[in-house]
Amino acid sequence: MADWLWDHGGEGFAQAYRVDEVFLDAQSPYQRVRVIRTPMFGRMLILDDAVQTSEADEFCYHEMLAHPPLLTHPQPRRVLIIGGGDGGLLEEVLKHPVERVVMVEIDRLVVDATLRHIPEIPGRAFDDPRTELRIEDGFAYVRDCQERFDVALVDSTDPQGPSVPLFGEAFYGDLFRLLGDDGVLAVQSGSPLYQADLVSQVRRHLRTHFPVVRTLLTCVPSYPGVLWTFTLASKRADPLDLPPEAVDRRVAGMGLRYYTGLQHRAALNPPPFLRSVLEG
Ligand code: SAM
Repeated sequence: MADWLWDHGGEGFAQAYRVDEVFLDAQSPYQRVRVIRTPMFGRMLILDDAVQTSEADEFCYHEMLAHPPLLTHPQPRRVLIIGGGDGGLLEEVLKHPVERVVMVEIDRLVVDATLRHIPEIPGRAFDDPRTELRIEDGFAYVRDCQERFDVALVDSTDPQGPSVPLFGEAFYGDLFRLLGDDGVLAVQSGSPLYQADLVSQVRRHLRTHFPVVRTLLTCVPSYPGVLWTFTLASKRADPLDLPPEAVDRRVAGMGLRYYTGLQHRAALNPPPFLRSVLEG
């Protein structure tokens, strides 16, 4: 009888994955870290009992969290990533002509597990001379940091354990302080189907500090319910003002498989049944 992993989305709802192989099952000081192989999504990183990323569809998530904010900023050179231990987001950011990326991940085991068992996700990103990887708490780092950034990306687990403060209004206020005058922030903001309250909370907290707040709707097939959101907050430019042809021009040659100019526009124009969650 095969083993199955159940990722529980909302009340009475889960998505199940047949486990054909277990490469790692270890407990870090922060979470249970597993790497498994599944027939549908290939190798997957699981933290506690939640799917984080998979070799089959990691590009959907990482492209849609990285490129809309990096294109909304007029000329991003210094980027901050909080979380993102699998390195997939870092790899996307480094496709842009940025000068420096500081990545603050609390759990060394997540980095090591992905590099060892799903190296295709980070590729050579951690070896890039522009990368500075810091193994520490992103909340404390942002609170105490004096460096300025153009773009900040919060690629966190859902609010539990060490990632709870990463969804707080104080954290967003500290990020606002770190960002320059054209600063742009994007955060992982959960499912519009069974985490509507979280999406609303993130939007409310971000609106306390940022004049422009836009939630983007995207698809991550390996996530329960597939639909997912990222919320972008900007001090000045509005992602809605970015024409599809300008997006296509700036990502030409990056070999992207999800993000295009029309996807940019679609992500910012949700179907009516989701409008109250994404724009409320
Ligand atoms: N890239 C992934 C995906 O495609 O879904 C997103 C998840 S990534 C693995 C989330 C990371 O956030 C984890 O590695 C976790 O250790 C990290 N994290 C949680 N709380 C943190 C904190 N306070 N500071 C820094 N990293 C944190």
